[in-house]
Amino acid sequence: MTLLRHTSTDIKPRKALTVNAAKTCQPVGAMYAALGIHRCLPHSHGSQGCCSYHRSALTRHYKEPVMAATSSFTEGASVFGGQANLLKSIETIFDVYAPDIIAVHTTCLSETIGDDIPQIVSKATDKGFVPEGKLVIHCNTPSYIGSHVTGFSNMVMGMVKYLSQTTENTPGTFNVIPGWVEPSDMRELKRLMSVMDLKTILFPDTSDVMDTPLNGDREFYPEGGTTLEELKATGDSSATFALGSFASKAAADALTKKCNVPAEILDLPIGLRATDRFIDAVRTTAGIEVPNSLTRERGRLVDLMSDMHQYFHGKRVALVGDPDQLIALSEFCADLDMRPVYIVSGTPGKAFETKVLERLEERIPEVKIANGSNADMYLLHQWIKQEAVDLIIGNTYCKYISRDENIPMIRHGFPILDRVGHSLFPTVGYMGGMRLCEKILEAFLSKLDRESPDEKVELVM
Ligand code: SF4
Repeated sequence: MTLLRHTSTDIKPRKALTVNAAKTCQPVGAMYAALGIHRCLPHSHGSQGCCSYHRSALTRHYKEPVMAATSSFTEGASVFGGQANLLKSIETIFDVYAPDIIAVHTTCLSETIGDDIPQIVSKATDKGFVPEGKLVIHCNTPSYIGSHVTGFSNMVMGMVKYLSQTTENTPGTFNVIPGWVEPSDMRELKRLMSVMDLKTILFPDTSDVMDTPLNGDREFYPEGGTTLEELKATGDSSATFALGSFASKAAADALTKKCNVPAEILDLPIGLRATDRFIDAVRTTAGIEVPNSLTRERGRLVDLMSDMHQYFHGKRVALVGDPDQLIALSEFCADLDMRPVYIVSGTPGKAFETKVLERLEERIPEVKIANGSNADMYLLHQWIKQEAVDLIIGNTYCKYISRDENIPMIRHGFPILDRVGHSLFPTVGYMGGMRLCEKILEAFLSKLDRESPDEKVELVM
């Protein structure tokens, strides 16, 4: 008996029904972004249940404790609004937990009530609840719009709106907005910038926050995160590289508007060509030479792609997850000579399909692309039942389809709830490309080893 035995191959038009959504709620993304500020306590303005869910969603993926506060709405707040709760929260949080900054995001309930967060924060400041030198920022995250990616984008834009400043300084730094990627990806992006000898402000930065070492000390506010000084200085940087238009463009545009910092909106640098475009944009904007060590790193990825080509050729792939990841992954899969045939993201946005098609360059005429609230795991399963694929790349929820249809799967994206370690190994950059190739090949050949009859099992493949 299969787990998803009710999935039908008969695809009917649906308008008001999502089955097994390929996304989660806005505040989860806002909370993840806020954790990328040093000494920040994210605050969920809504009920305890929402906050518990946001924290547990992040903890289950990153395998790290997630500190966050909540306005703890009860029936009274639901009827009369959450002002009193937020005022008390701000006072208590600074008294008891002493963060440098509180990053407030809203929830479905407080959005429906219509709580005016800037007005409440201003009242808290007037009442003396915000100590000298401490800050409260906010973003609106109604979860009936968009997805966790929208929430991430909104909070990063909030950082710019509240914190970025222009001064007389010309520090020669470059901003990198990494999008929603793993802490290891953020670390890898910083490494790439430092290999090119460039001073960088990466924001937000969850490395050393969501992948802290186990060293016997408990740090309520871990070592990592973009500092407030750095966030303020983003307005003085020479340029911004925004990676992934869905997660990072809004903040980059806001920074251009507020502080006149020019922005390059790029794909997430996943795979060979997207990484090439990132490195080349940095090279031309900063006016530098790409160091030989990076060129050799690239060459190793090209060599690996060439060595593995024989196994990848013609393999049909289904991709599901967040739009920035899928745009880059679809291009990389096609560059590996695979056929990304089904591409599904729960995050809405008209630009998605256009961008994927642009990256596929008419190489996959049979591709089916869907995004938004009706683009769910059920639809993906229906497509797979109609015509199977050789590989699924996506989050943990794909495992049911993978198991039912006996299709190998690579875990990538958010959330990954049933494995440990993914947050420690980057998939961005040339090194990340090599890791992806290795994982894909392992998935194909393990299946072959497992299912080949005895006489067909090969030692050398
Ligand atoms: S009620 Fe809204 S904000 Fe709260 S967990 Fe559900 S979707 Fe997220």
